[in-house]
Amino acid sequence: MQPVNQEQNTAARAGKTDLRKLSSKEFVELLKNMGQPAFRAKQIEEWVWEKGVTSFDQMTNLPKALRASLAETCTLGGVTEVTCQKSVDGSRKYLLGFEDGVTIECVGMPSDKRLAVCASTQAGCGMGCAFCATGTAGLTRSLTADEIYDQVVHVRNDFGERVTSVVMMGQGEPFANYDATLGALRRLNSPNGLGIGARHLTVSTCGIIPMITRFSREPEQFTLAVSLHSAVQRTRDALMPGVRRYSLLRLYDAMGEYTDRTGRRPTYEYALIKGINDSDEELAYLCDFCRDTLCHVNIIQLNEVSGSKFHPASERRAEDFVRRLASVGVEATIRQSRGADIDAACGQLKQSFT
Ligand code: SAH
Ligand code: SF4
Repeated sequence: MQPVNQEQNTAARAGKTDLRKLSSKEFVELLKNMGQPAFRAKQIEEWVWEKGVTSFDQMTNLPKALRASLAETCTLGGVTEVTCQKSVDGSRKYLLGFEDGVTIECVGMPSDKRLAVCASTQAGCGMGCAFCATGTAGLTRSLTADEIYDQVVHVRNDFGERVTSVVMMGQGEPFANYDATLGALRRLNSPNGLGIGARHLTVSTCGIIPMITRFSREPEQFTLAVSLHSAVQRTRDALMPGVRRYSLLRLYDAMGEYTDRTGRRPTYEYALIKGINDSDEELAYLCDFCRDTLCHVNIIQLNEVSGSKFHPASERRAEDFVRRLASVGVEATIRQSRGADIDAACGQLKQSFT
């Protein structure tokens, strides 16, 4: 991990109030103590959360003197862009740094009038999935809610466009960092944040069952995706050792409870890996797992990870999977990866900029 102006940042922030850590009430209090009227608090809150400015000078509707005293006593947190790579398909992959020098990646994917962001919830990941570039590197640390939210604001500001959807499919396991992930989702959803509809905010989990249950009880209509990758226990155990303790049977039951409770359709992600989970037997088990349940299956062509022994199955095989699933009444599509030329596709996110 590369330090990002760490000393400079730490020195500059010492003793100052981080505005991102304040509640609305604390904002009013702070401004009152500075002899300012209450509406200033609302204005500043908007700059911090909705507009995501990175300097007090950008708060153009505040008097210059107030901007100067804020700069003296407060900080704006936020992320620092270390690098950005642009794909031929318009996607941009960012390496972003936080105060302590930890870096993560996130991706912006534009299409028509939409802008989707793929955000990270942890720096690295401790789940150790065998086919995933992030998993092989291990966990550095979990991110805070602000650090997750700030990635999306950064992408929004860079494209200069409204973000229409966010998927927590970058680095890390969101349900191993549940509270921060939920905090970020709520702010992304809030009209005082980015105002993105809950259904357009998706969490992808490798299948941490107690958290799936918890998620099903949240009042918002957030979307859930579960990385399945095999409906055969021994195959899944080998591919995804981090969730070995949660059997497929328990996952099946938990997902049944989830759909009963929420009425929402979850997605199962299935990366086709040649010779591992693409056989007829695997397909039959997958059909059994999904048949008569509310779900959508995303067949993903495995993205090549350098040095890995796993390789993608043929395109024809992916089509076979979709056809067979459809024949038993299961909705399935093949998901096209974005940004493969810049290693921004699923499972390729690890700091490979340098
Ligand atoms: N930890 C969460 C979310 C981040 S991974 C999860 O596992 O669901 C985002 C998605 O990329 C998951 O579905 C994951 O299984 C998939 N993925 C990981 N490595 C991949 C690879 N090499 N090719 C294709 N998809 C991959
Ligand atoms: Fe972690 Fe998801 Fe990669 Fe598995 S696939 S190692 S859970 S990021």
